[in-house]
Amino acid sequence: MKVITKARELQNVLNQHNKTQVIGLVPTMGALHLGHLSIVKRAKLECDMVVVSIFVNPTQFDKAEDLKNYPRTLETDLQLLEQEQCDLVFVPQVEEIYQNDVKPEVMDFDGLDKVMEGAFRKDHFDGVGTIVKKLFTIVNPNKAYFGEKDFQQLQIIKKMVDKTKMNIQIIPCDIYREDDGLAMSSRNTRLSKVQREAAPLIYATLLQAKSLFPQQDLGDIQTFVQQQINGDEALKLEYFEIADVDTLLSIKTFDDSKQYRAFIAVFAGSIRLIDNIALN
Ligand code: AMP
Repeated sequence: MKVITKARELQNVLNQHNKTQVIGLVPTMGALHLGHLSIVKRAKLECDMVVVSIFVNPTQFDKAEDLKNYPRTLETDLQLLEQEQCDLVFVPQVEEIYQNDVKPEVMDFDGLDKVMEGAFRKDHFDGVGTIVKKLFTIVNPNKAYFGEKDFQQLQIIKKMVDKTKMNIQIIPCDIYREDDGLAMSSRNTRLSKVQREAAPLIYATLLQAKSLFPQQDLGDIQTFVQQQINGDEALKLEYFEIADVDTLLSIKTFDDSKQYRAFIAVFAGSIRLIDNIALN
């Protein structure tokens, strides 16, 4: 496994390889857990060469505090990737990616970025789009892997690829969970014992919402979710939405020819947790 910090060097290594080889990219912000590794395993099965990037991207954080506190565990990350027989790890410094201009490009995702995460985290998706576009340009992968844990992000990246006509296949990967249902996240390591014990309620509530859909009135499902989450002192609901997977717009009336998902964001103290579930 090669660990590379410079874009030019990464490109040189990739250029030495046979053009018919399938290159897979797995972008991450590090603090790797089994969710990330499940994606790397899949990429290894489907590609000849797997590049994992580890970069805590400053332009997608809306709060300086969150960026500062984001867990950084590079040494362990590299050991885990070595065990997965990852081929290349790209670990750039901020200057390598942004030079002296640490700003997101303003992007147009046809409104997919205006709801849910985008409504609550200003400029977040411009930051995500900016870093992913830069990584795509540097690596030029055939396939790029993204987790459904960040479903809105996945749809936005697909939109960006469609709009810019990049020849990259975007591969969605299942959400990987702890045994108690909590979606794995790098942020989970920051939860206190009490918060960690409360957090599985998020997925349990999504499962209950799914069992109520579509028979139950949508307003009643909203109220139910709000009462469940806010009923636990360690948790606070930020949003719960049932949305069309293509437009990400909140459902008004149920149409069984469409696919819906429920999306949730919850605070445990200052730690923000997100999750989602397919409904039909
Ligand atoms: P992150 O390091 O949080 O930016 O995540 C890197 C990639 O891993 C993103 O595509 C995430 O959606 C994905 N990911 C994070 N957590 C999970 C999980 N629990 N299951 C599946 N994919 C995940």
